[in-house]
Amino acid sequence: YGDPSQKIDYVFKVVLIGDSAVGKSQILARYARDEFSLDSKATIGVEFQTRTLVIDHKSVKAQIWDTAGQERYRAVTSAYYRGAVGAMLVYDITRRQTFDHIPRWLEELRAHADKNIVIILIGNKTDLEDQRAIPMEDAKEFAEKEGLFFLETSAFKATNVESAFTTVLTEIFNIVN
Ligand code: GDP
Ligand code: MG
Repeated sequence: YGDPSQKIDYVFKVVLIGDSAVGKSQILARYARDEFSLDSKATIGVEFQTRTLVIDHKSVKAQIWDTAGQERYRAVTSAYYRGAVGAMLVYDITRRQTFDHIPRWLEELRAHADKNIVIILIGNKTDLEDQRAIPMEDAKEFAEKEGLFFLETSAFKATNVESAFTTVLTEIFNIVN
């Protein structure tokens, strides 16, 4: 993805947060490398991945940070959030607990990140529709109340992953322009 010799107009830091095993690393793998692994333990030591895209004739480098197993409450350090202009708040549509923890993550984000950060709520694993525990309407309502963008994705099927990043990055782009 992207020509490395290309001039970069903007670098946007985006952080992935949410409970363990919701699919954060696979969402990032899908977006940055178009890869997916059912047994993902491969991202140890990697702090972020990048992908360059063009918005409105400008090249934007998205620098996307992934937690390396720091999902326990308050284990994510403030360095992780520092300079972030976007956040993807991920839960697993098949596990109620991961959605119930979203307000906590949001609180954490609002405590550590810039107050103008662009946030998208993501319900991942839509390919497991038969195991759905969170109705889409509930999440949508929550997102509206909190002023967040919202999409459901499947990193496995590559559904809406591209759109989720594009939504956040375009909104950030519009804010800075
Ligand atoms: P993280 O802890 O939030 O980074 O979660 P991972 O990305 O490591 O994913 C946890 C598990 O869920 C792994 O076994 C993945 O293969 C699986 N997974 C991630 N995304 C999806 C998805 O969209 N659909 C399905 N069926 N499994 C997924
Ligand atoms: Mg991970």
